[in-house]
Amino acid sequence: MEMSEARPVGLVSGSGRGIGLACARELASRGFDVCLNCSSERSMEHTEAAARAIESEFGVRALVFVADVAKAAEVKAMVDAIVSELGRLDVLVNNAGITRDGLIARMSEEDFDAVIDVNLKGVFNACKAAAKVMMKQRHGRIINMSSVVGIHGNAGQVNYAASKAGVIGITKSLAKELARRNITVNAVAPGFISTDMTDALSEEQKEAIASRIGLGRFGSAEDVAALVGFLASDEAAYITGQAIEVDGGLAL
Ligand code: NAP
Repeated sequence: MEMSEARPVGLVSGSGRGIGLACARELASRGFDVCLNCSSERSMEHTEAAARAIESEFGVRALVFVADVAKAAEVKAMVDAIVSELGRLDVLVNNAGITRDGLIARMSEEDFDAVIDVNLKGVFNACKAAAKVMMKQRHGRIINMSSVVGIHGNAGQVNYAASKAGVIGITKSLAKELARRNITVNAVAPGFISTDMTDALSEEQKEAIASRIGLGRFGSAEDVAALVGFLASDEAAYITGQAIEVDGGLAL
């Protein structure tokens, strides 16, 4: 990255496990100091353990911040603490996300709101807090985790699909707002990736899904993190406002 002697700083929301942890490890492998985030004290233990492993493996700093991304005040306090501790924020990966699946007839208002609050408002909260810092720096990268479901839809996921389509809307609008400040904003849209989120599927469901994927298998968290690492790199400086699918050929 173009910057002073200090190491660049990346924040990945929801990074104690799954795709978020792989993204934090990818940034660390590229020489970033990384800020990991988890939703509550309950997730502190494994998130702290992940941070210590990153520090010993990659020789960078790894700090852990507890913040519920759905709560604007907690997200702002986290970004303020990062800037006061590490002096800057170069890359924000908005990864935190949840599902509350069900057909619409059985989907409660609470399940709709919970998914929108974390997956969509959470992205808004973090973009708002980080953009302020990045605009001052005249440098930054924002990478938002969408989903193929936000592009193509999926029965049983109207809440999740709406949130992930909304993430693409935020991405394209913010890319236009921030381009003149040397800040790029892109979305990554994974297909089916092996994590706790997809572990909830039965073996039969997994087999049926895998048969629809061109490459015939689920992806790994590292498959997604590799694109996130590239979008955070100098080589991706001229890419903004895009939603890029990482789906093993699901949509072909
Ligand atoms: P996961 O294994 O279920 O992990 C979700 C992560 O999000 C956890 O680290 C969790 O933290 C965090 N999180 C949840 N609610 C949060 C909140 N309110 N505030 C802060 N952090 C919160 O999920 P994943 O499969 O890695 O998915 C990561 C992202 O990729 C999500 O946005 C998901 O929608 C997207 N995605 C996944 C797939 C897939 O097939 N797996 C496909 C497309 C898109 P805690 O540990 O504190 O709960």
